[in-house]
Amino acid sequence: MEVETFVVPPLENNIFLVYNAATKEAALIDSSLGAAKVLPRLKDLGLTLKFVLNTHGHHDHMADDAPIAKETGAKVAIHEADVYRLEKNAHDPRPYMPTPPPPAKADLVLKEATVVKVGSVEIETIHTPGHTEGSVCFYVPAANVLFTGDTLMAGTFGITGAPGGSPAMMYRSLKRLYELPPDTQVLPGHGPPTHVGDESWIANLRYAAPH
Ligand SMILES: [Zn+2]
Ligand SMILES: [Zn+2]
Repeated sequence: MEVETFVVPPLENNIFLVYNAATKEAALIDSSLGAAKVLPRLKDLGLTLKFVLNTHGHHDHMADDAPIAKETGAKVAIHEADVYRLEKNAHDPRPYMPTPPPPAKADLVLKEATVVKVGSVEIETIHTPGHTEGSVCFYVPAANVLFTGDTLMAGTFGITGAPGGSPAMMYRSLKRLYELPPDTQVLPGHGPPTHVGDESWIANLRYAAPH
């Protein structure tokens, strides 16, 4: 499995092109405003983009889902609990977006444990709500890689105070990810890569339900 990272607008988002060099099949983890970089690169490498896999439905992560899907025929995939965001964002301006993203359609609705195949690469869906209700991580056990979106980032985690967020769920999701092998490489939606075992603050994380 090959992975290329692109850092793109609107919020220095990391998007990842995952591909199988033998079969030339590829998946994109999040689109952000990355079409201008990703489309020519697909052509250069002679890749067929099969899926756009959304870690969650926030504007800055799904912005170019529709144009990339249209250009490549890739299937847009997102967790069932975040599907509504692909339409809703189009009517919901954000100060950091030049324009609201065009509405996208979920061609593939993900659930916990949904496996997506890109050539011989198996990408597993881990439902990790907390940042949004439908946030997921994409896990490739064979390559020891975990794409975490805005759930787990180096030294921190995504905000839980926006609509659909939940500190209690985030707590559970982080504890769950921390059970993965310590040498699992973590590729987050923003910021530098890390490893599960380097995020030892998760071991000390406590959550007390408000009363
Ligand atoms: Zn987000
Ligand atoms: Zn984000």
